[in-house]
Amino acid sequence: MVECSSGKIDPKTLPKVGRDTSLVGLGYDWAVTIDSGVPRSAAATGPEPLGAELAERLTVARMPDGSPEVFATIQGEGASQGVPSTFLRLAVCNLRCSWCDTAYTWDWKRYARAEQTRTASAGELVASIAALAPRNVVITGGEPLIQRRQLVPLARELVALGRRIEVETNGSIAPGPLAEFVAQFNVSPKLLSSGNEGLRTIRPEVLRAFADPSVNAFAKFVVSNPEDVDEVDTIVREAGFQPEHVILMPQGTTAAELNERGRWLANACVARGYRFSTRLHIFLWGDKRGV
Ligand code: SF4
Repeated sequence: MVECSSGKIDPKTLPKVGRDTSLVGLGYDWAVTIDSGVPRSAAATGPEPLGAELAERLTVARMPDGSPEVFATIQGEGASQGVPSTFLRLAVCNLRCSWCDTAYTWDWKRYARAEQTRTASAGELVASIAALAPRNVVITGGEPLIQRRQLVPLARELVALGRRIEVETNGSIAPGPLAEFVAQFNVSPKLLSSGNEGLRTIRPEVLRAFADPSVNAFAKFVVSNPEDVDEVDTIVREAGFQPEHVILMPQGTTAAELNERGRWLANACVARGYRFSTRLHIFLWGDKRGV
């Protein structure tokens, strides 16, 4: 049984976690930061029934055993690389990247939707996440912000339980009220080399909002070739991201690909003041689900 405080917390008392930067120093101090605005009585009152809003259902990736794709691992990419994290993978995406390594969440020509996805209530997902140890929760996809409204009760409950929330997004959808509960956005705008012909991948007004210094967002670009870096520069400049909040990551699903692209990409980062990320989970476990 998971301790649940649904309906007992006044949102006004919650901290402005969308502006939290406690992970910047990797000090693992987010629990203190996030707990600070939550009434202590909420965590101390013990098990309570889940509120009606936690009956809200979300469409999530389905593991081979039928359970929602919720798992504990380390964050393999980006600003929080190496941080122990619980991942929740939502299904459905509005883009179609040619190299997408989670196409099972959206590509119904290649995958059977009924086998790869399912629905689950926010309350069920909170219970699954709360049963795992990592306090950092990464909500990923697919494109999670397609379900931004349904994510609000889930995120509110997780914050009340002392979890820190990161949301991974392709940056084409604004988060809306969900931002209140998100400590960090990992925004990954898709470049021309992503193969999204005919789809609008870049929405400047959305990226400008993420780049606002009051929001803790990192722009993480998946780079396939050296020409991509010029496109990154243009997007970064027009959106207004600070270089230290820009991360370049090589595209690849094998260690060999990541190493080959990573060498020249690291040099490009040094020249521009951008950060570099590889994909640790590929080196550790290969291109597998649930790790
Ligand atoms: S935006 Fe992300 S989930 Fe969607 S197709 Fe591209 S890589 Fe895959």
